[in-house]
Amino acid sequence: MKHLSIRWKITLWFSAALIVVVSMTYGIVLAVSEQVIQKTIRDNLIETVEHNYDEIEFYTDINDVDLKNDVDHFVRYGDGFLEVDDDFLDQVNGVYTALYQEDSTLIYGENPVARDTAELSFQNSVLQKQRINGTLYYIFDRELSDQEISGLWLRGVVAETQGSAQLQNISKLSLIVLPLVVLLAVVGGFVIASRALRPIRQIEQAANRISHGGDLKQRIDIGKGGDELHRLANRFNEMFERLDASFEAERQFTSDASHELRTPMSVILAQCEYSLEEDCTKEEYREAMRVIHRQSKRMSRLINDMLTFTRLENRANRYPMETLDFGALVLDTCEDLALIEEHGIKLECQAQKGILLCGNRQLLIRMLTNLVSNAYRYGKDHGHIWVSLEEHPDALVLAVRDDGIGISSEDLPQIFRRFYQADSSRSSGGTGLGLSMVEGIVELHGGQISVDSVYQKGSTFTVTLPKPGRE
Ligand code: ADP
Repeated sequence: MKHLSIRWKITLWFSAALIVVVSMTYGIVLAVSEQVIQKTIRDNLIETVEHNYDEIEFYTDINDVDLKNDVDHFVRYGDGFLEVDDDFLDQVNGVYTALYQEDSTLIYGENPVARDTAELSFQNSVLQKQRINGTLYYIFDRELSDQEISGLWLRGVVAETQGSAQLQNISKLSLIVLPLVVLLAVVGGFVIASRALRPIRQIEQAANRISHGGDLKQRIDIGKGGDELHRLANRFNEMFERLDASFEAERQFTSDASHELRTPMSVILAQCEYSLEEDCTKEEYREAMRVIHRQSKRMSRLINDMLTFTRLENRANRYPMETLDFGALVLDTCEDLALIEEHGIKLECQAQKGILLCGNRQLLIRMLTNLVSNAYRYGKDHGHIWVSLEEHPDALVLAVRDDGIGISSEDLPQIFRRFYQADSSRSSGGTGLGLSMVEGIVELHGGQISVDSVYQKGSTFTVTLPKPGRE
């Protein structure tokens, strides 16, 4: 049963239920028919006897009768005679009616079990039963009485088996029709179940093709519709789309990362080969070591950034969140960063202690450091950096503004892409990962980042973060 397909399981359950229902119906039909038929037989018996009762008359004077009417029967009785009308039904629908004297002497009519019922006393308008040779008989008596006659009885007799032929017919018909109904329902059910489950087979086939072929561009196509299976197929397609996008991003990241590492590596190799092959002066060796040192630092920074980045993307839960004084964190970080004083650039910070935020201290310092480092790196000599933190009714707004070289409108939409550097000649020392890391940290904290920049005038990076309890 476990290994059967769903459509077979549905069909089997459905058929079993149907067979039970049909069998019960068959039993009920037979039982009810039996009762109805028996009642009809009894009613028929009483009706026939009552009818025949009205067909018998007693006359004392023969002149009172129209003797030309030779179809009626005349039977001598006592001082007169009985006229049994032509409409007297002595045998109809298995009901036998006979006219008896009180002492069970048959006067007129038929009774196939006359001998066996002779002992049964007459009871006026009472339905009696008697089993004769294994067959049950219904017997109904009616006493004929008026001022002139007495001791005359009409006895009607009918066998219970009278209805068995009808019952057999009903039974035969049921035995042909009901299995046909079951067969039709089972075949119909199987066809409907197969049709209804066809989209599931298509989903399974598509999932198979994807898992065996590894082609995440494949989609499940089960046509148009809005039922559960179509919704399921749509969810699968969305999932494949996301998987495809994230695999593509991973591939891109690996290719970009190896490309970025290849440049400093080539420079280091070239410097080493040159220093080993040529006879160099002490100063030339020192210069080669300086280049190697610079490129190694660049590689190390790149590797560190990549590590933080992937950890941020894949294991965000490795950075525990806590409610912290973001105002104090901004003030302290700026105090440290102000010491850089690169190119004579001055850093000013406007923030107040006590502005709370739910976040990860290490990542928030990293975010601010990246933004301020960029402002130094792309600042003008003796320029300015302004850092401000404001508490708005529904959010915290951190802005890092500089009066540096700015970003051109063509570069602006790209700067958050991994490894993107607007102008590699001016961004020496950078890895191209700083801003995408900032964006990742902001998103992890449920915030948003935007940038405004005027080329050659300066840039403003604005980070909006949710207040504690609002994220
Ligand atoms: P990088 O390591 O090159 O700084 P980032 O991701 O931090 O990489 O920045 C991407 C690019 O955005 C930089 O190469 C630079 O061209 C531009 N950029 C970032 N911050 C600023 C800024 N404050 N002023 C001007 N340009 C900037």
